Order: sequence, then C-alpha cells, then structure tokens
Amino acid sequence: GRNAYCLFEPSMNRGAHEELALTQDLRRALGHDEFSLHYQPKLRAPAGPLTGVEALLRWHHPEQGMVMPDRFIPLAEKTGLILEIGRWVINEACRQLAQWRAQGIEIPSVSVNLSATQFRSPGLFGKISTALSAHAVPASSLVLEITESTAMHDPEASLAILQRLADLGVGISIDDFGTGYSSLLYLKRLPASELKIDRAFVRDLVAGGEDAAIVSAIIALGRTLNLTVIAEGVETEAQQHLLTELGCTSLQGFHLGRPCPPTEFAARLA
Ligand code: C2E
Ligand code: CA
Ligand code: CA
Ligand code: CA
Repeated sequence: GRNAYCLFEPSMNRGAHEELALTQDLRRALGHDEFSLHYQPKLRAPAGPLTGVEALLRWHHPEQGMVMPDRFIPLAEKTGLILEIGRWVINEACRQLAQWRAQGIEIPSVSVNLSATQFRSPGLFGKISTALSAHAVPASSLVLEITESTAMHDPEASLAILQRLADLGVGISIDDFGTGYSSLLYLKRLPASELKIDRAFVRDLVAGGEDAAIVSAIIALGRTLNLTVIAEGVETEAQQHLLTELGCTSLQGFHLGRPCPPTEFAARLA
C-alpha cells in the first residue's frame, strides 16, 4: 500500500518468537541463579604482573547452555532488566574479590562493565557504595568500564555522574575507545583513569600500518591526560610486542588469558 512494499518471511517471525521466548527466560534467570561471572586478566605490558581482572557476564540457560552477553544484554537493556542484572554483577564482582583476598589471592582490582541504561539510572551510585561496603572492598579496587559512546552521549550529564563516582574513589575506564566520537574537550574533563583501545585497532595491527599510527595517537593522548592505556583483544605474540613497543601500559586478550570461571582463574594464577 501507499507505494510501499512490505516483505514477510517466516524466518522473521521465528526471530521475533525466539527473542520473546529468550526475554521471558531472562526474567526468570536471576531468581534461578543462572548467571555467573567469568574473569579475564589485565596484565602490565608486555607479560605481567596482573594489574586487574575484568568481570564478564555469562548466562547458563537451562536448555540452550551458555548464552553470551552480546545476545542477551541488548534484551536486558530493552526490557529494563539490566538494572537488576547489573546490580547482581556489581555485587558478585565485589563478593568474589573479597573472597579471593580472604584466601590470600592478590588481585589488584576488578573491572565491571556498565551499560548505557545502568550508567544513567539514578540508583547506580547507591548500588555501588552498598556493594563496596557489604563486602568491605575499598572503592579503589573497583573499576567501572563504560564505552566511549555512552560517555560522550550527553557529555555534561556523563561528567556529573562520573565525577560523583570518581569522588567515591572507584576507577573509570573508557571502553571501546576509538569507536565513538570523543570530544577532546570533554575527554580532558572526564575523571577517567584508563582508556581501553578497541579490539578493532588491534586485530590487523602491523608495524608501520595505519592502525599502529592510530594506536600511537591514542597512547600519546592517554599520556597527556595522565591515563593508563590498555589494549583489548590481544590474540598474538606479535600484537603483544608491537603494542608494548608503541607504549601501551597494559594488555588484555586471549593470548594473555581467556575469560574463565573464578576457581579456574585462581588455579591458573597459582
Ligand atoms: P567488552 O566489554 O568489550 O568485553 C570484551 C569482550 O571481548 C568479551 O566478550 C571478551 O570475552 C572478549 N575478548 C577478550 N579477549 C579477546 C580476544 O583476544 N579476542 C577476541 N576476539 N575477543 C576477546 P564477551 O564476554 O562475550 O562480552 C561481550 C560484551 O558484552 C562486552 O564487551 C560488554 O560490552 C558486554 N558485557 C559483558 N559483561 C557485561 C556485564 O556484566 N554488564 C554489561 N552491561 N555488559 C557486559
Ligand atoms: Ca569491557
Ligand atoms: Ca571493549
Ligand atoms: Ca566491545
């Protein structure tokens, strides 16, 4: 109608059904204890010591097995469930860190990812300070990772939220850096502690190439702003060495350690 076509395919219906079913399962997941956190090491370049760990959410679906965050975080965002799930993540990461420390396992800090909705929610500050005091974790041991696009969307509002969190003493990492559109003026004012170079610049990294030039520029920017610069997605020894040569402070990626459950993580450290 109205000079427009609308194509319908049975597979589209299936996609929508699957999404709906997964969303319904997601509503029950928290109460059924189906989430867990995996941990990936962040190492001082080139090969350690450990500077921290990143907590990555996993959903153990009763029928589908392990579901990765790229599949369910968008649904959780859309439905608002992310707020409750996010609270669980912050609390669980603090609990785990406290447990490791009680066992004598030295983990300098734990990083937690915050989605855009979570970042802007009025309850965030309270959830974080509650989790820290519940597990007697010093604020300086917690790092919040927010993407560059989240930070730069309404930068004045972000600045106010981040200032409050930074005053509490938690670290702020600007994730997926280089993929958003940073205003350097705002970046200068953000109370961040770390820039995380997006995997896209690491993937095809070769000496003298375009990505190497971009990485160098981000590192120079980080130095100027007094931020540590970490590269993610380090999959090869060549990337590990080139990133170190370029001046990256820390490295993270499959080549240095894959995300794994906490008991396995502690065993690997030992
Ligand atoms: P991210 O924050 O950029 O996390 C890095 C992702 O890259 C993780 O995927 C990690 O497993 C993967 N990765 C690590 N090293 C390598 C590597 O060397 N090569 C490659 N190809 N990949 C690597 P994961 O765990 O599937 O998480 C995907 C995204 O989901 C995360 O991207 C983050 O945006 C989001 N996410 C994960 N956990 C949470 C959470 O607790 N809350 C929120 N809001 N988002 C989360
Ligand atoms: Ca991250
Ligand atoms: Ca990232
Ligand atoms: Ca990412």
